[in-house]
Amino acid sequence: MLPLVEPWSECPACVKDTPKRALHVTRNRKSPLISGPYYAVLGCERCGLAYVSPRPTTGAMNRFYEDEDRDGWTVRHDEVGAAAKRDKKSQLASRALMPILGPRRQGRAIDIGCGAGDILNVLKHSGWTTVGIEPHAALAAIAAQQHQMIAEVPREPTFDLVVLHHVLEHLLSPGGLLREARAAAAPGANLLLGVPAFEEAATSGNIARACGPIHINGFTWAALRNAALMAGWSPIAPPGALVLKGRHILYAVASDPRPPEPGALDVVLDVLRQYGRQLDRAGEFVPATVQAST
Ligand SMILES: [Zn+2]
Repeated sequence: MLPLVEPWSECPACVKDTPKRALHVTRNRKSPLISGPYYAVLGCERCGLAYVSPRPTTGAMNRFYEDEDRDGWTVRHDEVGAAAKRDKKSQLASRALMPILGPRRQGRAIDIGCGAGDILNVLKHSGWTTVGIEPHAALAAIAAQQHQMIAEVPREPTFDLVVLHHVLEHLLSPGGLLREARAAAAPGANLLLGVPAFEEAATSGNIARACGPIHINGFTWAALRNAALMAGWSPIAPPGALVLKGRHILYAVASDPRPPEPGALDVVLDVLRQYGRQLDRAGEFVPATVQAST
């Protein structure tokens, strides 16, 4: 028989047990990742990460992300729609990378969770030596046509650029991977991090996209900065605007680990407060009227 009360999971960014707060409890609607009738969104009082508890099992994660037939993730490259979607992704990737492609010296770049290699393509085109990691076999096979593919993050500090684009929100241990990425970073190496913005829930009403069964970690800008700091990545002002709608793009340089900056959980609470104010009596989200700006 299952225990009546689940132990709350430790903070996946701090990678230890920290004071936490239950922010939100939701009925679990047939998620292939989370078993049980409900899940909670917890907030870490130390670093401000919002995260789902209970966590998916490693087995469920592997089945989900390595399953080639799964709807919604599998890219069928013979379909026109999928090709158009990939083109759009490449454009977004290029826009995110453009500011660092010019001034940054070329070197060795690794994209962890590289998908079909869209971002690596942009880097290779600019003269970088490119390496990818991708658990999904069909996507990895496409990336392998252009780039060296490896199975695990190397322990030697050999990379000048690490890309983690829309990966951290899916992982059991985002803090663990940021630390692994730091260990693989050469002195002065840069990190490019992209995640969905948790703040978006306040205006979109899509609380599950911010933090739910698929995006099991929800990052505000403050929480993302803290996750990077704790793992030994110092956020730096990007040499250009890295703003994409609904997502955070953080640019950092390898340094020493630092403690998180306080107050990050307040941002999460503000977002949930704003979200709550826009629920009608039936619990449906009614977006606030957006005033036209001129
Ligand atoms: Zn934490």
